[in-house]
Amino acid sequence: MLRQVDELMPIGEFSERSGLSPKRLRSYAAGGLLVPAAVDSVSGYRYYSPGQLRDAQLIDALREAGMPLADIRALLRDPSNEQLDAWARRVEIDAAQRHKALDLARQMLAIGTTSFPAVDNDRSRKESTMTKLRTVSRTDIGRVRDNNEDAVVSSDHLAAVADGMGGHPGGEVASAVAIALLQAAFTGRSLDELQAAVRAANRAIWDRAGGSAELEGMGTTICAAGLIENGSLVVVNVGDSRAYVLHNGLLTQLTHDHSVTAEAVRRGEMSEQEALDHPHHSVLTRALGVAADVELDSAAHLAVEGDRLLICTDGLVNEVSSDEIASLMAVTEDIQATADGLVELALSRGGRDNVSVVVAEICA
Ligand code: MG
Repeated sequence: MLRQVDELMPIGEFSERSGLSPKRLRSYAAGGLLVPAAVDSVSGYRYYSPGQLRDAQLIDALREAGMPLADIRALLRDPSNEQLDAWARRVEIDAAQRHKALDLARQMLAIGTTSFPAVDNDRSRKESTMTKLRTVSRTDIGRVRDNNEDAVVSSDHLAAVADGMGGHPGGEVASAVAIALLQAAFTGRSLDELQAAVRAANRAIWDRAGGSAELEGMGTTICAAGLIENGSLVVVNVGDSRAYVLHNGLLTQLTHDHSVTAEAVRRGEMSEQEALDHPHHSVLTRALGVAADVELDSAAHLAVEGDRLLICTDGLVNEVSSDEIASLMAVTEDIQATADGLVELALSRGGRDNVSVVVAEICA
């Protein structure tokens, strides 16, 4: 025991022996990846043990491979070759999506930013036996804004909205690129595929923003719901666009908003109404295009025939309460009428933002 105490290293020595900077070690400690083995209760100094050298180098190698911190944490809990193989498969899918994304980006550059090519993503879904989405969408500039930075996609396996930011033309480009890449890269195979598509979109926006003064600082939210081959409904979101499901007349929000006020509400520091009225209401804590990698929220749900989905931007929910959304969705039989009714209601309240909705019904 005494020998182990003698072997403890202060951060400077551990940094030298591991080859990792103290700054990086502190960030791994803060992220819960590599917590110092001991701390001096008087001085507060942190000490590492020799046994942590291998972990430090493993963590660093995984970071070099581009693995997000959350995935490294999961791998360290159960380090195995199987986990690494699973990651390698994700990297392969991701690389394939990025190649698709690059091809699409080349086409976009060739034709400018105002129109995008239709995408044939050669899906291999077994059309006759699978559940499908019946979808409609509507996007409106609203009553105040000069341009519409929202973008939507609706198909028989995908319903998504993106709410661009960064001013003209950045916001429009960011949301359009996100939606186009999602449509190109998500074929309805799996949750992994949807996550990879969103990551590819993030990377494409980030790369493009960095290469153009006009587009610098652009970003977008994304909220996407997809039906996959095993019959699940998968949802991925970043930012404050939302997904809801209406099941037996009951409306449930499937996503958490990534905004400073929504996070304060979740911590119990603010009410929903205070959040709506707060000057920082539109400040996002996560968005696509602001960094090379992005943390996604994702989940798989049971896809129940007859359930209805609503995917929408904040231009709807800032004007129309969730109770009103639930009533309108429950009483309107026709989904186009639902989409139109929701948008018209937001416009009648002032339409202070772009407002976009995709309404979908899960069908056999
Ligand atoms: Mg908005």
